[in-house]
Amino acid sequence: MIKLVAATNNKKKLAELRRILSPMGFTVLSLADAGIDIDVEENADTFSGNARLKAQAVFDRCGMATLSDDSGLCVDALNGAPGVYSARYGGLETDEERNQKILEEMKDIPPEKRGAKFVCALCCILSADTMLECAGECRGSIGTAPAGDGGFGYDPLFVVDSRSYSELTDDEKDRISHRGMALENLCAMLRQVLPGLT
Ligand code: IMP
Repeated sequence: MIKLVAATNNKKKLAELRRILSPMGFTVLSLADAGIDIDVEENADTFSGNARLKAQAVFDRCGMATLSDDSGLCVDALNGAPGVYSARYGGLETDEERNQKILEEMKDIPPEKRGAKFVCALCCILSADTMLECAGECRGSIGTAPAGDGGFGYDPLFVVDSRSYSELTDDEKDRISHRGMALENLCAMLRQVLPGLT
């Protein structure tokens, strides 16, 4: 088993990282499991920049192999917003409020202009001289009302092939999601540097 500390305080994101990486032979530790209490300021202007900031801060603190995920929703009609500000869009506190804000901002946008993508940037630091970086994306569109009750964040708004992320099973989401795609890319990179990984 290869241990990776997940550089996130987001429990739902941690759960997704675990359910995708566990079958591949990784034990994903939370920050608490690793005895770390840290809240990294995400002040880069790209997903990959923020992923690197988080992974580096946690690796510097614990010296253990670390994985960070910086992700968010980019809406075409909102010029890519909320983008890197997805977690704190509009300074609003809850997922429901942020979802309502997007629906309100898009109330006059017709179906053909409701395109959006989810983006996930990963940074994995295995040792002081081995940093792996990759990304994944999933294209879809923004529904006209929240749909489904699974998942987290913007899942109820983001529609792929007529179902929202919230309406997919965990397996279905992982197979197509931005995080699933990014982790597939990361695993290909890990297989190159960690011979023996299945
Ligand atoms: P950060 O990567 O911690 O800066 O925050 C990512 C934010 O993007 C989360 O708080 C969610 O609002 C949103 N997000 C990222 N991935 C997902 C996802 O898979 N589903 C729904 N929302 C997501």
